[in-house]
Amino acid sequence: MIQFLDLKNINLRHKNSLLNAFAEVLNSGWFILGESVKRFEKEFAHYCGVRHCIGVANGLDALTLILEGYKQLGFMNNGDEVIVPSNTYIASILAVSKAGLKPVLVEPKINTYLIDENQIEDKITSRTKAILPVHLYGRLCNMEAINAIAKEHQLRVIEDCAQSHGARLDELTCGNLGDAAGFSFYPGKNLGALGDGGAVTTNNDELAEVIIALRNYGSHKKYENLYQGANSRLDEIQAAFLSIKLKDLDNDNRLRRSIAEYYTDRIQNELIALPCSKQTIIANLYSHVWHIYPIRVKQREMFQKYLSENGIQTVIHYPIPPHKQPAYAEWNSLSYPLSEQIHEEIISLPISPVMKQEEVEYVCKVVNSYKL
Ligand SMILES: *Cc1c(COP(=O)(O)O)cnc(C)c1O
Repeated sequence: MIQFLDLKNINLRHKNSLLNAFAEVLNSGWFILGESVKRFEKEFAHYCGVRHCIGVANGLDALTLILEGYKQLGFMNNGDEVIVPSNTYIASILAVSKAGLKPVLVEPKINTYLIDENQIEDKITSRTKAILPVHLYGRLCNMEAINAIAKEHQLRVIEDCAQSHGARLDELTCGNLGDAAGFSFYPGKNLGALGDGGAVTTNNDELAEVIIALRNYGSHKKYENLYQGANSRLDEIQAAFLSIKLKDLDNDNRLRRSIAEYYTDRIQNELIALPCSKQTIIANLYSHVWHIYPIRVKQREMFQKYLSENGIQTVIHYPIPPHKQPAYAEWNSLSYPLSEQIHEEIISLPISPVMKQEEVEYVCKVVNSYKL
């Protein structure tokens, strides 16, 4: 079976370094907010080109803490609105709800699956305080357009970088393309820990200071609490692992890109829509880090079964759009036709830095032989 994502072998590439890092943390006797977290925060801030990186417990908390930070600074109040894509992993939207704010959904573009910047302004009201673009599947949103809209309407831009570690727009790396950004280091992400982890990046000194307190019970000084904060800290052990894996992030992204290029070049089947053309890949080489390789096909179940019978594991990102989830019952009767179509047709082929060339070739062959 060709696995969708071979996490075991992805991490075994670093076996000795990871074991050494474990031993170092074990011998230090210090497990929460110590030197490993400080070091990783510095390295990741440097990697993203920002002044601040704050390690937190996961990607959902990273986004939630940014919004709560803005509330503490007086930029947002309960019930204010945040514009989010209707086509995303639900965490992007949950973060807004959890911070006591109101998510306002905007449809994606069918050719990129990313928030349609041309539909954002229609949704802006006097209560809109921020836009939360999600660089879904590893591809950067149109940040020039989004930042221009935000500037005109005095909104904050909060990037959801949970799937886009290392994606670049010219000289700038994501995490540095808005006012603040949330990252996830969930094991399956392009930069993944061996457990949960996350980070906020920003160039805003005040926001960074508030989030440093918010992640640790709202405290700057032990047993003094400025805010009703959370317990959302990046573990020392995970930070130590992440420092090791960060060194390979650019190379891993390069390997993902070469598989995406190969698929895009070789997959030819009229039943299948590819995520973009070869020309698009070449023209935007660094702005896509291919967290997944999503294709679209009608009667997806049959296709998935066919691949599985031929030894290829696939995953669906995601089967149910957020507005159709029971968790958001108030939206269930609303219609976001593009999101619904994407969620109905999308399916992700295997892609990872440890996939072998023969496997990539085999996937192309099997996909090309698919017929109804
Ligand atoms: C994974 C993910 C998150 C949440 O990250 P966790 O670490 O699992 O909390 C947020 N947004 C997107 C787009 C994601 O893919």
